[in-house]
Amino acid sequence: IVRYKGVSKSFGDTTVLNQLDLDIAKGEKIALIGPSGSGKTTIIRMLMTLEEPSSGTIEVDGEMLWHKEVDGKLVPADENHLRKVRGNIGMVFQQYNLFPHMTILKNCTVAPINVLGISKAEAITRAKEMLEKVGLKDKMDYYPSQLSGGQQQRVAIARSLVMRPKVMLFDEVTAALDPELVGEVLEVIKDIASDGETTMILITHEIDFARDVADRVFFLDAGKIAEYGNPEDVLVNPQSERLKAFLKRFN
Ligand code: ATP
Repeated sequence: IVRYKGVSKSFGDTTVLNQLDLDIAKGEKIALIGPSGSGKTTIIRMLMTLEEPSSGTIEVDGEMLWHKEVDGKLVPADENHLRKVRGNIGMVFQQYNLFPHMTILKNCTVAPINVLGISKAEAITRAKEMLEKVGLKDKMDYYPSQLSGGQQQRVAIARSLVMRPKVMLFDEVTAALDPELVGEVLEVIKDIASDGETTMILITHEIDFARDVADRVFFLDAGKIAEYGNPEDVLVNPQSERLKAFLKRFN
């Protein structure tokens, strides 16, 4: 459902991603691990259309994201096309960024009403369903400041799911949380992952979590996929010295 072909990205003289090829199947859960600066966030920022690839192509659900085919030639996509393809993708970041002046329920219904154009009643039904899924339906009339960080992050996940994205991106969603709040957020993601339908790309430093949830794990090093495979192979029996050294930090 997501396909990177020969994707490179440079900022000035610095090459951050070098000829990345990555194919993710529908419903697949992949984890991206690797040292700081290895290019993980850049991979998903390109999918969110926040960063344009310097070269190569990215497809989402059979459609080019950054390009359009006109008369057999690839031309840069326009805003409308970008927005349309990007509509398939949901993202949760480290910073949950809920709207502070809106209730939890409202936080979850604004985007579907304004962006998807669904009715208020339908948006509320969907939002309640997703809040139930993350275990926070009873908090729907609260404001974000009345919730813990872990609860706010769970709302951010529900808010994203209400849009029914085909692909969900999670970028170190527990990195800003107090340690005792990490577990509840990871549990919610595991629960969503277990439904099988949603394709997920997870950037995480939670190695045990990656092992539990991911179908495949990719180790990025200096802008390249240095090692990948099923979680057992990559996380338990790493081959390269770089990956062995990287994983030692988490033991
Ligand atoms: P982290 O785990 O620290 O988030 P990462 O693997 O996600 O790291 P990226 O955020 O993708 O890494 O960044 C890769 C490299 O690209 C870093 O060296 C970063 O400084 C650089 N970089 C990212 N965005 C920009 C930008 N807008 N301009 C210049 N350099 C950038």
